[in-house]
Amino acid sequence: MTVYLVGAGPGDPGLVTRRAAELLGEADVVVYDRLVGPDVLAMARPDALLIDVGKRPGQLHRQSDINGILVDHGRQGGVVVRLKGGDPFLFGRGGEEAEALRAAGLQFEVVPGVTSAFGAPAYAGIPVTHRGLSTSVTVVTGHVGEPLDSSRASSGGSSSGGPGSGEVDWAALAKAGGTLVILMGVAERAEIARRLMAGGRDPSSPVAVVEWGTLPTQTSMRTTLSRLEEAAIEPPAVIVVGPVAAIDLGWFESLPLHGIRVLVTRARAQSAPLRNALRAAGADVVEMPMIQIVDPADGGAALRKAAASAPSYDWVAFTSVNSVERFVQLLRDGRALGPARLAVVGNATAAALRTWHLEADLIAEPQTAEGLAAVMPPAQSGAAEDSPVTAGGSMAPSYGRGRVLFPRAAEGRDVLAPALRAKGWLVDEVDAYRTVPADVSSGLRSQVEDGTVDVVTFTSPSTVRSYVSQFGVPGNWKKTPVVACMGPVTAEAARTAGIYVDVVAAHPTVEHLVAGLVELRASGWQHAEPAHGKPVRDPGRHHLESLP
Ligand code: SAH
Repeated sequence: MTVYLVGAGPGDPGLVTRRAAELLGEADVVVYDRLVGPDVLAMARPDALLIDVGKRPGQLHRQSDINGILVDHGRQGGVVVRLKGGDPFLFGRGGEEAEALRAAGLQFEVVPGVTSAFGAPAYAGIPVTHRGLSTSVTVVTGHVGEPLDSSRASSGGSSSGGPGSGEVDWAALAKAGGTLVILMGVAERAEIARRLMAGGRDPSSPVAVVEWGTLPTQTSMRTTLSRLEEAAIEPPAVIVVGPVAAIDLGWFESLPLHGIRVLVTRARAQSAPLRNALRAAGADVVEMPMIQIVDPADGGAALRKAAASAPSYDWVAFTSVNSVERFVQLLRDGRALGPARLAVVGNATAAALRTWHLEADLIAEPQTAEGLAAVMPPAQSGAAEDSPVTAGGSMAPSYGRGRVLFPRAAEGRDVLAPALRAKGWLVDEVDAYRTVPADVSSGLRSQVEDGTVDVVTFTSPSTVRSYVSQFGVPGNWKKTPVVACMGPVTAEAARTAGIYVDVVAAHPTVEHLVAGLVELRASGWQHAEPAHGKPVRDPGRHHLESLP
């Protein structure tokens, strides 16, 4: 059987190679290190066996134990992935594992990864080589196993190291010039700097330190060789020494929501657009689905029947992407809609139809149920009397005109149907789905309760209700996060629940929600005056200033 030695990249899930993602999707067993990002690990199958062999205090895995685990699982068959931070063959001990596998007669494949040595500087805006500044880059370990001998260093370090000795020859590196990228160098940075200066590097040489490179928690700082010792740094970090370390082409840390941890409460199946838009803006996204979309109480029988008689309606109206999806997939063929036209609440619902090659005939303005009712034309006069169907959900076929089918959320607001009836339409409301509170894992719960979340997003009234039922009202929250609601209807539901709403998306779209957050941050996280509703916080002690 084959064991896969796979590089996970430095942390950003977007830097995982296609081969690595493919293997993670197949793996029965994933043996992973401490520096593998959680979002990368999440690419593994939910039923895969995950084995943490991260070396951390009190739980020391020896390399021989890890080799043993790989050989054992490799012999059992199944797909075994050994997942390592960065590149598996760059200070990853991947070579030793490959040797152990070969000695045991097992096949292996190596999947290179983006190394933190180059990935972290790139995300800090530092080109490791640069025309006119540096024509070489050396990646070196700052972790030398035994303590560095400073008396040797001060004598020029000429005796330290040598080819194959396993010890870094800092004096030679100092003289060779070019860029140095030091991994595992945080603890011994003072000694490393001393040796490089003793070897001839200018004490004023630029140095950059990148902590948690490529992750939403990335921070970078600039200093000089002589001041490296004073820098407050925590591992994991890469240290870049040389003229390129003065270049600042920063782009990642200046993303508008960089460093902000945002909770997404939307149902998992629907969260991707919001998650991706937040990530693109630099946010650290935590997904905690508060709701789940499930079948309606009748298992969908009424919806199936309604879909079958779609051509007998003048309009089919949708106020959510979920109802579009649940309804359209019941159509045998797009033509099964017959002459029925399609009315939708907004751009997202229109886009959902478009994925089925159906174009909305009418889009609400504003993008709410009220807006949809407002833009719908009045029913043809006499339609209500001509039709044999009476309001109230009867599904009898009708050849009269003036009928609207409204596949809806069982617990949605009662806005559209009454308003359309007032315009003379016969409206058949059919439950397309229900939203029920989702179970929240204890790990996620504690993240929210510990107050590490800066922003909570609500995308529908049901996410608000479910959140409040799990975490109570804001007075009980340990730290009050910024609350951002996707549209006025959700904001109203939040205010009704006693939540002070900081951001209301101008329109109920993902883009507007993210734009609202970006605007709030750009203005220093200052509260806007509450337009209405009941602020429950003392404005004098709100948390916003404490955010980065
Ligand atoms: N094989 C890995 C390196 C493993 S050694 C690779 O190719 O990246 C572990 C060291 O890598 C850490 O001490 C730190 O110096 C560096 N490192 C790993 N991930 C990092 C990250 N996201 N940001 C900064 N440094 C990182």
